[in-house]
Amino acid sequence: MDGPSNERIGRATGFGMVAQGDGYWYRPTSVEGIRDVFEAARRSGRKVVIRGSGRSYGDAALLPEGLILDFRRMNNILAWDPETGLLTAEAGVTLEQIWRHTLEDGWWPPVVSGTMFPTLGGALAMNIHGKNAYRKGTIGEHVTEIEVLTPSGRTLILQPDDDAFYEAISSAGLLGVITRATLQMKRVSSGDLRVLPLSCADWEEQFACMERFEGDADYMVGWVDAFAKGKSCGRGLFHAAWYLDEPAERPSSLRMDRQDLPDTILGFFPKSMVWRYLKKLNNRWGMRQINWAKYTASRLLGHGKPHPQSLVAFSFLLDYVPNWQRAYLPGGFIQYQSFVPKEHARRVFAEQFRMQQEARLESFLAVFKRHRPDRFLLSHGVDGYSLALDFKVTERNWPEVRRLAHRMNELVLEAGGRFYLAKDATLRPEDARAYLGDETLTRLRTRKAEWDPEGLLSSAQAERLGLV
Ligand SMILES: Cc1cc2nc3c(=O)[nH]c(=O)nc-3n(C[C@H](O)[C@H](O)[C@H](O)COP(=O)(O)OP(=O)(O)OC[C@H]3O[C@@H](n4cnc5c(N)ncnc54)[C@H](O)[C@@H]3O)c2cc1C
Repeated sequence: MDGPSNERIGRATGFGMVAQGDGYWYRPTSVEGIRDVFEAARRSGRKVVIRGSGRSYGDAALLPEGLILDFRRMNNILAWDPETGLLTAEAGVTLEQIWRHTLEDGWWPPVVSGTMFPTLGGALAMNIHGKNAYRKGTIGEHVTEIEVLTPSGRTLILQPDDDAFYEAISSAGLLGVITRATLQMKRVSSGDLRVLPLSCADWEEQFACMERFEGDADYMVGWVDAFAKGKSCGRGLFHAAWYLDEPAERPSSLRMDRQDLPDTILGFFPKSMVWRYLKKLNNRWGMRQINWAKYTASRLLGHGKPHPQSLVAFSFLLDYVPNWQRAYLPGGFIQYQSFVPKEHARRVFAEQFRMQQEARLESFLAVFKRHRPDRFLLSHGVDGYSLALDFKVTERNWPEVRRLAHRMNELVLEAGGRFYLAKDATLRPEDARAYLGDETLTRLRTRKAEWDPEGLLSSAQAERLGLV
């Protein structure tokens, strides 16, 4: 049996574990099953939230008391052409399923997030970016067709020449259900990248690296020590990476066994245990030491020396330690990611660090990336940079963390910057209005009135921000 008969009550949490809520879970296996969920919502007078793998950090994929449309059983790859690299799949397939299906034929997803677990539907609903955002933009730019089921019951096939395509992708599950998509994969002749690590003494050097390699490198990412102050503010480790050309017809680097992440660290220590040890160090003192040690190691080991690394190990570094997020329990954590135009980014990020240090709420992990603008409706793209900051949350510090986020928002908004719904847990309606603008919000509401006139699709985030 499909559809509403799968109902069960259960808790949904965001990846950061701060946002949570109980709802009625449905796990359809067909478009008919999805229609049944909307019917159940009408009957019960409740709303529906769509959910992929729940990898959004905040409350985008949950809705207390709502019907949770869990997409994970609609996860079939429907068509794969190793000649053209076009892949068609149901929206519940994960990025992991996709690369495992295509890599041995010499194709890799054009855009991936720092984890391989998001679903294709979730990736499109947030329009994810990767460490190649400045070159390849967002995942939506590599999609040739999507199928959308509207809550009013229409099935639409949308392509890039249609305005609605740019609205459905990026709309955080608020307009319609993306049921399947066709993705143009990227041809690769090797499963390895050439990775160049460069240790940076301050923000100047971080930005100089990004500027130096943006015309040439296939991927770039910077890690930043948020505890370092004064002249060392912004210090960290920058990586640029290039696809490798391997002359062999089917190089062994494309094989699955060459890509799998190891189960142990140093060959014997089970990775599944690591988060328990991390938890002991997951405080201000411990994280200051870890950040310092990582920076010091970056200066002493490997600086300026390129090395090969598998696509999986480079792309999905955050999957290296399973369940690392549990090290933040019991309170969880939030990720605050802001996107700032290039003229202002250096000043805004340095000031964000100063504010965190003053509040003694330094981010335990800070990641720096280069981006470009795009034409999707709820876009986070800018011609500039993003800084993603992970903040530990406790019952005691939560009001202060939020206050800090709101103060940092002011800097971002004054600089014409943007935010990203996949990473948001603290925006207020006025912040969302300010970065999205009235024109975008009007377009969102006009399309919603057409596709979802009863207002069935929602999320805790959309309600918090007044988006629907
Ligand atoms: C460790 C980690 C690293 C990450 N790194 C990056 C990164 O580098 N770049 C980046 O851009 N993001 C990154 N993310 C964020 C992540 O890629 C996004 O949050 C993505 O949307 C998660 O996909 P999901 O399937 O888990 O979707 P969920 O989190 O379950 O849902 C996300 C949104 O999509 C909607 N939705 C889900 N499925 C559908 C569908 N079929 N149709 C319509 N709407 C739908 C939901 O309603 C919700 O609003 C990272 C997340 C984690 C945990």
